[in-house]
Amino acid sequence: MSGEDHQYERRLKRAAAAMDKGGVDAVLLTPGADMFYFSGFEHGHAMKRLLALAIRRDGTAGWIVPAMNESQVREHALPDQPVRPWSDAETYLPALREAVSGMKSVAFDDEARAAFLLDLLEAAPGVRVRKASGILGPLRVRKDAAELELMRAAGRTVDETIPEAIALCRPGRTEAEIDADLRKALLRRSPESQVAFTIVASGPNGALPHHDTGSRRLERGDVVILDFGTRREGYHSDITVTCAVGEPADPEARKVYRVVWEAQQKALDAVRPGVPCEEVDRAARDHIAAAGYGDYFIHRTGHGLGLQVHEEPFIVGGNRQPLEEGMVFSVEPGIYLPGRFGVRLEVIAGVAADGVSLINAPRVSELPITG
Ligand code: ZN
Ligand code: ZN
Ligand code: ZN
Repeated sequence: MSGEDHQYERRLKRAAAAMDKGGVDAVLLTPGADMFYFSGFEHGHAMKRLLALAIRRDGTAGWIVPAMNESQVREHALPDQPVRPWSDAETYLPALREAVSGMKSVAFDDEARAAFLLDLLEAAPGVRVRKASGILGPLRVRKDAAELELMRAAGRTVDETIPEAIALCRPGRTEAEIDADLRKALLRRSPESQVAFTIVASGPNGALPHHDTGSRRLERGDVVILDFGTRREGYHSDITVTCAVGEPADPEARKVYRVVWEAQQKALDAVRPGVPCEEVDRAARDHIAAAGYGDYFIHRTGHGLGLQVHEEPFIVGGNRQPLEEGMVFSVEPGIYLPGRFGVRLEVIAGVAADGVSLINAPRVSELPITG
């Protein structure tokens, strides 16, 4: 058995303990981050065909697999995990019924296709079904040493690309052109990575936190937000920098940048085990509000990062969940002035025993000028 297999066995044992505590008989997962976490298997392009990993309360697990995917799954199934193939003529319903027979309570992949869940409810009307995230969320939220190493490696790729990304912002170029070059730059630096996402938001578009990169041409004086991330061996990076194309046309740009920077430092200073997530959010938010921009910080301060770009823990008002060593999340305050510009700065923070340990770190305290 390989080192990776042992890692999956350990994770399955922890899942079994969580199921026991949560009172569920099985967790049913379809291709996605959770299935990858427990097996290293991903995609398979099963789509409307049910491909599932069923983890039982005793720690054993088995697979329901479209016959056409059987060999792909067998590469990842542990030696003691049965694989139950089904053919298109048979349909997956008998295999699904077998998997939950005799069970009272099943946790089901939150992100699976609704049709699988509806079929499960019909096939096993007596079974109580709940969200898998309620059982598995606490497992993935703390990263182990190997996961942290993968995340640092992904973080280095985006960190090292920042100077190039900023230099791409020149007057006359469209957001889409910059975006295409940014993607190439990321892959050049790390050919084994995939580009997970990119956002190029220039001038007034920067006031929309999730702007869709478009055809606007950059003008001298624009403030530009660049938000991008990669994925390598399942784990993500995520970074946001803000720069100006020449001297910023808006006289408030430097000041706003400074306020966001300071808010980010306050939030990072608040990070340590035991501190509720919402206090990290509050540290950033109070600073921005005190500077008079409270109404223009229109999203949470951060989100967990790992096998997914947005996962637990969420750094948001109302989240009393205490930080624990090994958690990893973004700290990305922003100020968005409608019709004018936006500033967002994002780093990825890890929780260490005595405070914060940055997973990646563009530490630029003054608005960078390019072009
Ligand atoms: Zn986002
Ligand atoms: Zn981001
Ligand atoms: Zn983010």
